[in-house]
Amino acid sequence: MSAVPDGKKLVRSPSGLRMVPENGAFNSPFSLDEPQWVPDKECPRCMQCDTKFDFIRRKHHCRRCGRCFCDKCCSKKVALPRMCFVDPVRQCAECSLASQKETEFYDKQIKVLLGGGTFVVTLGTSEKSESMTCRLSNNHRYLFLDGESHFEVELSRISSMQILTDGSSPGGGMSRANGMLLHFKPMGSQDAQQLRMEAADDKKAASLWLAAMHKAAKLLYEARDQ
Ligand SMILES: [Zn+2]
Ligand SMILES: [Zn+2]
Repeated sequence: MSAVPDGKKLVRSPSGLRMVPENGAFNSPFSLDEPQWVPDKECPRCMQCDTKFDFIRRKHHCRRCGRCFCDKCCSKKVALPRMCFVDPVRQCAECSLASQKETEFYDKQIKVLLGGGTFVVTLGTSEKSESMTCRLSNNHRYLFLDGESHFEVELSRISSMQILTDGSSPGGGMSRANGMLLHFKPMGSQDAQQLRMEAADDKKAASLWLAAMHKAAKLLYEARDQ
C-alpha cells in the first residue's frame, strides 16, 4: 500500500492492483465492490461450459462476478473501472460485455458530465428559477449547480430522476431530452425536495448532458441494487 497524490491509494487485492480513494467515504457512487469468489471446493466444473477441472484444466475466477470458469470461458482481460482496477482483469463472457459497455460511459459520458451544461433551475415549488451551470464533481459524488448562487446535490441522496423530453415530433422522429426532474433528500432531512432543470440557451449541449446523466442513473441504480 503506497500513497499517491489527490487522495488516492494503490491497494492490491487477489484480483489485481486497484487505485481507490484514500478515504472509503469518497468512493465514486458508480463504483462496484469486488465480488466474493465462489470457493474452489464449490465449483468442480466450469460454470459456463461444464468442463471438469483437473490439473490441466485449471479454474479461473471472473473478477467481476466471482464465478468459476475454465480458461477458455474466462480468458478475456477487460478494463473494469467500476472496481478501480488499474489494468484490465480477467472476466467471463457476460461480464466482459457489461464492462465493455461501461467503457463508453467512462470514455465519453463522464467527460460530458464533468464538463457541464447550462439549465434553468427551479428548486422545489418556488416560482423563482435561475440560470445555472450544472456539472458532476470530480469525485463523481455531487451535482454542482452554479449561477448567482451555488447549490449541490449528493448523487447518493437522489431518490428519483426523470428525464423530460420535448415530446415526439408529428413526423415520429426521436424526441430530444430537454430537462430533468430530480427528487432528493437534502442532508439532515427526511423530506424529498424537487429540483427541475430545463435546457437553456445551448439546447444541443444540454441534451447531450442529459443523455449522459440518464446513462449515469442506470449505473447508479445497478450499484445500489448490488
Ligand atoms: Zn468453460
Ligand atoms: Zn463474470
